[in-house]
Amino acid sequence: MPTKRRAPDSARLDRVVAEAREAAEARARTYREQALKLFPWICGRCAREFDRSTVHQLTVHHKDHNHDNNPPDGSNWELLCVYCHDNEHSRELKAAASDGSPSRDETAAATHRPFAHLADLLNKRRHGDR
Ligand SMILES: [Zn+2]
Ligand SMILES: [Zn+2]
Repeated sequence: MPTKRRAPDSARLDRVVAEAREAAEARARTYREQALKLFPWICGRCAREFDRSTVHQLTVHHKDHNHDNNPPDGSNWELLCVYCHDNEHSRELKAAASDGSPSRDETAAATHRPFAHLADLLNKRRHGDR
């Protein structure tokens, strides 16, 4: 049996994963900053107010649960404190569990996003190497 299998280039894979993660984090920082500029620093659920020392507890919720949908007018964003944001998502999970459909948000966050573009990235790199 010929064994032509090449050892996976794990260093390159690590780098691609790191770059993809950095891009996602950079994007998250960007839409958070934009949302914080657009909206008053108040939780959309409990109306708690935030200032510079507490604003890290204020998070950006995506109304349609698509973290890639970031219109600059902020129409898909809602500022929620970490507690209300947690509630918002656990409520959805319970609702999803009762009607049997998976939560789109969780699915997108857990499986879709970090590696969605990885195949593309790897393909591009491969062409570039030759
Ligand atoms: Zn709240
Ligand atoms: Zn959310």
